[in-house]
Amino acid sequence: MTTTPDRYAGALRLDGKRALVTGATKGIGADIARAFASAGATLVLSGRDEAELAAARTALSGEFGVEIHTVAVDLAEGDGPSRLAEAALGAFGGLDVLVNNAGVSYPQSVADTDPALFDATIAVNLRAPALLASIVGAAMVRAGVGGSIITVASAAALAPLPDHYAYCASKAGLVMATKVLARELGPHGIRANSVCPTVVLTEMGQRVWGEEAKAAPMLARIPLGRFAQPHEVSDTVVWLASDLASMVNGVDIPVDGGYTMG
Ligand code: NAP
Repeated sequence: MTTTPDRYAGALRLDGKRALVTGATKGIGADIARAFASAGATLVLSGRDEAELAAARTALSGEFGVEIHTVAVDLAEGDGPSRLAEAALGAFGGLDVLVNNAGVSYPQSVADTDPALFDATIAVNLRAPALLASIVGAAMVRAGVGGSIITVASAAALAPLPDHYAYCASKAGLVMATKVLARELGPHGIRANSVCPTVVLTEMGQRVWGEEAKAAPMLARIPLGRFAQPHEVSDTVVWLASDLASMVNGVDIPVDGGYTMG
């Protein structure tokens, strides 16, 4: 006799769900795109590089047989979020899931803060996902069938990191923006939640935390004693997109091995 209750059979599937994943060309976003495709979602993938997007579409549609569209857009540009939202909503005639994952990190101390890099961080990490969620959320409300908005924030939203002045501020702002989404859109059956990973050794993670001298003190503060793998973020994002998380709204989930528990 199986010990697995029938209620979980196929529950972590995303068949029939139309999802937009930003920052899908590399790192965590590429892994989220792969996880969503393997779970049966149809996808709009976004990044800045047309060739990388085309390669991702060919690979994922070939392996998993799901329909995939791509939209190349620079989310730092003023109309980037609205252009992406309109193109993505047009691709499938609506969206059920938005994964706001694209982000940048330009480590700077408080004293050395460069205004241009501060603005660039806020533009990509806070303004773009907040505006995208506003447009996509409004479309979900009009469609009247609910939805799930998932923000890839950071443990840096929950605990201050030296030399990450703009980054911490942008991610903390994003966590709160996501809670406002949860409160305003919840009555329409739209859930909004954040995931807050510790360091993940992607291109970004490697650039910021790759040196042992920087990594060691950070690792010492993580009870599990290691950095996260991209799939550990994706697994949480897939769950939040799925019907298994149907009563989960307005939370920020640390995926950090216990780093931010206090
Ligand atoms: P990554 O490897 O550097 O990938 C970043 C993705 O975002 C790429 O697909 C990139 O597209 C896209 N992107 C960057 N700037 C963009 C812009 N102006 N317009 C459109 N797309 C843009 O980063 P990652 O480590 O996977 O990080 C993904 C998310 O997780 C970010 O929000 C990050 O803050 C968060 N996070 C990362 C870590 C970590 O340690 N890695 C920890 C916590 C949270 P292109 O191909 O065009 O460059």
